Amino acid sequence: MSELILKRSAYIHNLSKICEKAGGKDRVILVLKDNAYGHGAKFVAKEASKFGIKFTAVKDEREANELDGFFDQILILSHLPNGNESDKFIYGVNELSNLQAFKSGTKIHLAIDTLMHRNGIILDEIEAACRIAKQKSLKILGAYTHFRSADELNSDYFVQRENFKIAKEKILKFGGLNQDDLIFHSHNSAGLERFGELKNEYVRVGIAQYGYAQFDDSLQLKRVMELWANRVSRRELKAGQCIGYGAKFCANQDMIVATYDLGYADGLLRYNGERELILPNGKKMLGKMSMDSFSCEDSGDRICVFEDAREFAKFFNTIEYDILARLSPNLKRRWV
Ligand SMILES: *Cc1c(COP(=O)(O)O)cnc(C)c1O
Repeated sequence: MSELILKRSAYIHNLSKICEKAGGKDRVILVLKDNAYGHGAKFVAKEASKFGIKFTAVKDEREANELDGFFDQILILSHLPNGNESDKFIYGVNELSNLQAFKSGTKIHLAIDTLMHRNGIILDEIEAACRIAKQKSLKILGAYTHFRSADELNSDYFVQRENFKIAKEKILKFGGLNQDDLIFHSHNSAGLERFGELKNEYVRVGIAQYGYAQFDDSLQLKRVMELWANRVSRRELKAGQCIGYGAKFCANQDMIVATYDLGYADGLLRYNGERELILPNGKKMLGKMSMDSFSCEDSGDRICVFEDAREFAKFFNTIEYDILARLSPNLKRRWV
């Protein structure tokens, strides 16, 4: 059976580096959305909570319910308010007009649009947001923003910092709140690598915990996941014979080929057999990938498909986030 192997020592190493740079374990909001970037939300949450992380961020209520009990606080980033919010969770507010729809008494963090224009409340709407929150007895517990180019060397970051500073002042003023009542957060992984801890702010870190640096090597991260497949069959491919759909690969001499139990239904991007894809052991993938399997030069009982999702991502002209997050929740996962 194919499986996803998670390296505990690498994960703990990454968490230690992140917490050190963020100014402590209690300053880290660990982003475990999308099944912990494919690593397995519950698997990862268990280790993170044992390590001492108290706060997580996820995509929606389904994910929040899955992680209920592991952390003191769970922030939901992408919730559409429906008046049925749970008092166990904190809800991100992505648009001013959404505020009216929350159940009264709901705990919220205001997302602030400081330049990215993807979502969030703009600076001029903060006063109204605070007023509506008060009318609806919503509990503003914090506010955050997201940098559109924390991993690039340009001035956007500084513009956003300045805008977020203004936003904080407005929230304190119009919300009638004290700094001590609120949690502010802005840095993602790249922001943390690049600028380290910020006074009076938490960080909201996703990809770094899994071992992928975005900006520089300052955290000395280690890859956490390896993806392995098991051989389901092997055979001799005679010179002139072709393997798989559409006969994309044909042997020009006799060779031993094998088929392994991972395919695009497991969340891999589909290999179309056109350019040479070399696996970590140096063997070539052969022909088009199938739904539940791929073929390659025989590599024994098991084969590592990737130990570095970034290398795999490069082949498909995408990013490691994309490779990781799409891995099927049905894959077996195991800490080693
Ligand atoms: C996914 C996400 C993050 C985490 O980003 P990384 O680059 O993985 O650290 C932080 N904040 C928000 C709002 C996100 O959606």
